Amino acid sequence: MSIQLQIEATRGSARAGTLITPHGEVETPVFMPVGTLASVKGVSQDVLEELGVQILLSNTYHLYLRPGIETVRQMGGLHRFMSWDRAMLTDSGGFQVFSLNDLRKVSEEGVAFRSHLDGSPHFLSPEKAMEIQIGLGADIIMAFDECTEYPADAQRARDSMELTLRWGARCKKYFEAHKQEVPWARTESAELRSAGRPRAAVPTRAGATQALFGIVQGGMDAALRHESAERTIDVGFPGYAIGGLSVGEPREVTRDIVLSTLEHLPANQPRYLMGVGTPEEIAQYAQSGVDMMDCVLPTRAARHGLLFTSEGKVSIKQARYAQDESALDPACDCRVCQRYSRAYLRHLYASNELLAQVLNTVHNLHFYLATMRSVRVWIRAGHATGTVTT
Ligand SMILES: [Zn+2]
Repeated sequence: MSIQLQIEATRGSARAGTLITPHGEVETPVFMPVGTLASVKGVSQDVLEELGVQILLSNTYHLYLRPGIETVRQMGGLHRFMSWDRAMLTDSGGFQVFSLNDLRKVSEEGVAFRSHLDGSPHFLSPEKAMEIQIGLGADIIMAFDECTEYPADAQRARDSMELTLRWGARCKKYFEAHKQEVPWARTESAELRSAGRPRAAVPTRAGATQALFGIVQGGMDAALRHESAERTIDVGFPGYAIGGLSVGEPREVTRDIVLSTLEHLPANQPRYLMGVGTPEEIAQYAQSGVDMMDCVLPTRAARHGLLFTSEGKVSIKQARYAQDESALDPACDCRVCQRYSRAYLRHLYASNELLAQVLNTVHNLHFYLATMRSVRVWIRAGHATGTVTT
C-alpha cells in the first residue's frame, strides 16, 4: 500500500478528505509549500510544523546537483536528512530541466543538459528520474514528463504528449521493479534511532512504499488533454497530476484547461495541479475538485516583500508603511501579525535584515494554508458523503 485518499465530504465538484501517506495524514485539499533544496528558505522545520504544514515539496533537479543523491540516500533519505517526519513529494526534475532552454537536448531516451551551477553535463531519463526519486524517498514521486512549451503548434503538442506517455510507462516499469529500494523501507527503525544521531523520521506504516503519480500533458488543447488523461489512466497510477501549465499562457487558458482536464480524472484518486497559483486561484481550483497544489509564489514573493493579506496584496517596502503601527493583516492570526507592526516589517525589509525574509515567508505561508483551511471548511459545510476509499 502506498497512499490512500479518503474522501469525506463533497460540495459541487470539490472534495475534502484525508490523504494517508507513509509519513502521516494530509488534510485535502492541500497547499504544499516548496522546499527546493530540502529547505523552505528561511523557515525551520519546527516552524513549518507549527504552521500546520502536513506535506512539503522538494525539487529533484536541485537536490540531484546539490548535495547529490548518494549523500541523501546515505543519510537515510530526505525525511531523515532534513528531519521532517511528515509527508513529502518530489517533482521529477523534468520541469526544471526544460526551463534550461539553451542547456538541454531532448531525445527519445531522455534529456541531456548542463548544470546551471557549473555547466557540467548530465543526463536524465525516465529510469534515472525514478532511481533518483527512490533514493530521495519522498512519499509521493512524479513521473518524468516533457513540459510542452507555450505556445506550441498542434503537431508539437501531440508529439510532446506522446513522448510523456511513453516516458510515463517507462517510469512505472522501473518504479515497480525498484520501489523496495526506498531508504526508509529497508532500514530498520531501531537503526534509524541509533544513539548519537538526531531524532529520525520513521515511516508511520510498516511495509509502506512510495506512490508514483502520472502527469497529464497536451499543451493548451482540451481534446489533447482529454486524450492524455485517458491514456495516462490506462497506464495506471495511484494519483494524477495536471502538468505543463503556468508556462506563460493567459490565466483564463490555464483555468479552462484545468477545469476541462479535471472532468477526465478518476473521482476516487488524488488530483494534483502543479505549480499554480495566487491565493484566489488555489481557492478556486480547490473548489473545482483539485486535491493538491504547490507554488513558489508565497515564499518567493515574501522574499521580495510582497505579502498576501485578507485586504489584498501589500508591498511592505513602500514608504507609506514606515510609521504604520497596525498589524500586517488584522484578520490574520499568524505569529507575525500577532506580534509585529507594518512599520517594523518595512524597516526590516528596507534594512535587508534576514529576519524580514523569515517573517514575510511565515506570514505568506500561513495565509496560503489558512486559505486552504477555509476551503476545506466550506466543502465540509456542504453535504457530507460516505467515505470513498481507493
Ligand atoms: Zn499573518
